Amino acid sequence: MAEVMFKRVALIGIGLIGSSLARRMKRDGLAGHIAVNARSQASLDTSMKLGFADSVSLDPCEVVKDADLVVVCSPVGTYAAIGETIKGALKKGAILSDVGSVKEAVVRDLGASLPDGVHLVPAHPVAGTEFSGPEAGFPELFEQRWCILTPPTGTDAAATAKMRSLWEQCGSNVEVMEAHHHDQVMAMTSHLPHLISFTIVGTATDLEQSLQNEVIKFSAGGFRDFTRIAASDPTMWRDIFLNNKEAVLEILQRFTEDLTALQRSIRRGEGDVLFDKFTRSRAIRRGVIDAKQA
Ligand code: NAP
Repeated sequence: MAEVMFKRVALIGIGLIGSSLARRMKRDGLAGHIAVNARSQASLDTSMKLGFADSVSLDPCEVVKDADLVVVCSPVGTYAAIGETIKGALKKGAILSDVGSVKEAVVRDLGASLPDGVHLVPAHPVAGTEFSGPEAGFPELFEQRWCILTPPTGTDAAATAKMRSLWEQCGSNVEVMEAHHHDQVMAMTSHLPHLISFTIVGTATDLEQSLQNEVIKFSAGGFRDFTRIAASDPTMWRDIFLNNKEAVLEILQRFTEDLTALQRSIRRGEGDVLFDKFTRSRAIRRGVIDAKQA
């Protein structure tokens, strides 16, 4: 059993990510007490039943009171209202963190008029599945995955170090990055692939029925990999696109240009161009496997 890192931890939102973090902290004794808030009583009851919460409340202020660490684990579109609600109840010296998939908007929404003595250390564990809710979590989710911390300039170094240590104890590799840079990187590595998957699956959904049946039947040809990504939570993804608009639109523009170029090569029968492009993609896949991110 590891050492207790935080006497009292408050989790706001207890879905896939929040409950995975709670499970890990409970399993390894990283928190003395885990207090949980969610939108519904049902999720709070489940958290108690599954044993990773020590106390629960529908009132977020009740949950964050006396907490040494508060981690917001709800969709990023809820952050501004949550930040506004809890800021008066946060303990002096507490660390306020999160797990949101975008970071500039988080610094804006959670950092707004934060009381003196509360340390904002936003985090993004780059790990997940297409499943949601408190039952979907598991303690090994963050193993061998990256967790990116984006403390705003001037953040207490000790608070950042403590969050680094927490995520390392959850099995992650940790990197500290500027929030704007994080959002640009994620626009390419995560947000664009999801947008493409939503589009492909959407196109299939609009096909006439007879063709649609064949798409499902023969999905192992490639389509099924997109359906897994496109099955991700719609609320979470709506909020990501609305909160990382600029970076996503920029990368989408580049992608559209590249797609048009590829379209032209196919039309013109430029086999060499296609072959070169596909050879380069293959090398990227090898890089992902070597980096143990496959
Ligand atoms: P999830 O499974 O859908 O769970 C969301 C949780 O937030 C639920 O417990 C929900 O309560 C709660 N919630 C919603 N609105 C709330 C509010 N106003 N106040 C308090 N709680 C509220 O979501 P998730 O996949 O864990 O994602 C959570 C966060 O992690 C998101 O910000 C997402 O961007 C980030 N993230 C997700 C992934 C991923 O792959 N899923 C990966 C990395 C980061 P109820 O249960 O009562 O509805």
